[in-house]
Amino acid sequence: MAITLYHNGQVFLGARGSEPEFAEAFIVDGDTILFVGTEADACEAAAARTDAASAETHAGAETHAGAETRAGTVVEVDLGGRLVLPGFVDGHAHILGTGEALARVPLTDARDLKEIQSRLAAARAADPHAERILGRGWLFDSVPGGAPTAAMIDEVVADVPVYLDANDYHSCWVNSAALREMGIDRSTPNPVGGEIERDANGDATGMLFETAAGEFAWNHLDDINDAASEDEALDRVFAAYLEAGVTSAVDMGLNEVDLAAFDRALNRHNGELPINVIAHWRINNAGDRERNLSQVDRAIDLAAAGRPSGLRVAGIKCIIDGTIDACTAAMSEPYTNGRNSGPIWPLADLEPVVVAADAAGLQIALHAIGDEAIDIAISALETAARVNGDKPRRHRIEHLEYAAPGTAERLAELGITASMQPVHTDAAIRDNWNELLGAERSARGFAWPEYEDAGALLAFSTDTPTAPHEALPNLYIATTRKSALDPSCAANEPELAVSLGNAVLHATRDAAIAAGEGDRRGELRAGFAADFAVVEDNPFALGVEALREGRVSMTVVGGQVVHGG
Ligand SMILES: [Zn+2]
Repeated sequence: MAITLYHNGQVFLGARGSEPEFAEAFIVDGDTILFVGTEADACEAAAARTDAASAETHAGAETHAGAETRAGTVVEVDLGGRLVLPGFVDGHAHILGTGEALARVPLTDARDLKEIQSRLAAARAADPHAERILGRGWLFDSVPGGAPTAAMIDEVVADVPVYLDANDYHSCWVNSAALREMGIDRSTPNPVGGEIERDANGDATGMLFETAAGEFAWNHLDDINDAASEDEALDRVFAAYLEAGVTSAVDMGLNEVDLAAFDRALNRHNGELPINVIAHWRINNAGDRERNLSQVDRAIDLAAAGRPSGLRVAGIKCIIDGTIDACTAAMSEPYTNGRNSGPIWPLADLEPVVVAADAAGLQIALHAIGDEAIDIAISALETAARVNGDKPRRHRIEHLEYAAPGTAERLAELGITASMQPVHTDAAIRDNWNELLGAERSARGFAWPEYEDAGALLAFSTDTPTAPHEALPNLYIATTRKSALDPSCAANEPELAVSLGNAVLHATRDAAIAAGEGDRRGELRAGFAADFAVVEDNPFALGVEALREGRVSMTVVGGQVVHGG
């Protein structure tokens, strides 16, 4: 059987302090890494592994990448000095939603209304038969007065409905045809927890906030979505992930629609997904203990049932609060504008769910962005440990954007993972966040070094589609606190950046450990899965600026080259 010797590379092994460590070569046997080490040792190990005939071939250096493989041979791949990283593990993502978003008109880097309008006009011209136009990722900062209107879209596209998701996925901006399609008029009441914005005359402006975006725009789009378009979306996101060097991802909020789409993908791909997927089942607070616990039972069944390789339901996810930009994250002290929000899951509702999931051996992931919500999350996990007693558990808190001093130490002591998204502190989208928290609190936003210093497990991810899914720009923000979208923006709290070596570890090894995959993935080590990414421009050599638009030239999953070469 042929083995593959990848050599003449800079193979990332880890970091001691902030000093990264590298090997030169490694050997892949089937789907597993067989050996990692120096060029000479790897050649020796490859020779020892094969029969005498193949060892001679290798000594003569006659084989090259793409050479015919035959029994007992060594296939050599010359990495040309390039950097090899473990395949990225996107520790918190919404996979199907990302696939759908990737087909929408990208608007995040459109920094004024003219640019947004010209992209919508171009999309209409490019597909004159489209029944509607969908866009994503626009920023309030890019619209005059931060006040988008249906008329602004109508100026360029009036004949078909247009739906534009805001960058934070907490609101949707639509045109007049979309308002008509959804049946929204003067008499339509606001849903609980949301607002159909109206002008002085009482007419809808075209902005749908919070649950109004969900119940009108997104439910409507889901209703007209069919399985075929979901299948296309999943294949689109798999391809995009592989192009970005991402070989595993945690679906943080699986529901029945996602599950059915993944099951169809497993059929389509011969029982194996193109990337390794770990999932947390989304539990919504129904405000009723029994209805909440029945959702946990569904997660327990899914986790126990297992699935063909490539999709594992690991646990549950609860969303304890909202976001700082929308003033819906639960803070112990009000925002600078005087507003505040209570938690979506008060402790009394959350505790029974967390205790039941912990008792069943599920992993628990709790979205908590404000310090009040974080306190509730930690308290519920403490209760579960007390009630269910000592046993191995690896629970996690998602986002931790503003955590009170001392939080990192509590997480370290309780063995709770800090799951954080550098891309959510991209300097181009921090102004509103800073203003709402004020100087003192914003100075401790996204305080990654606190978790490193306390010894808590810190796992990085992108939370795509609320932010770009690419791994290298995410590391750019982690190491600079600048913007991957707009390089002219000044860094926020540059002293809270992490070293490049540690940033890579948090996005690979630590994200794998957090997902319960640390014994097989996230490191380039003998016995681990042969999942890795070859990086085109080496940031360790060229500096971290190379990460901003960094490209991955080859991605390998389970020993198979699945992108580039
Ligand atoms: Zn999320």
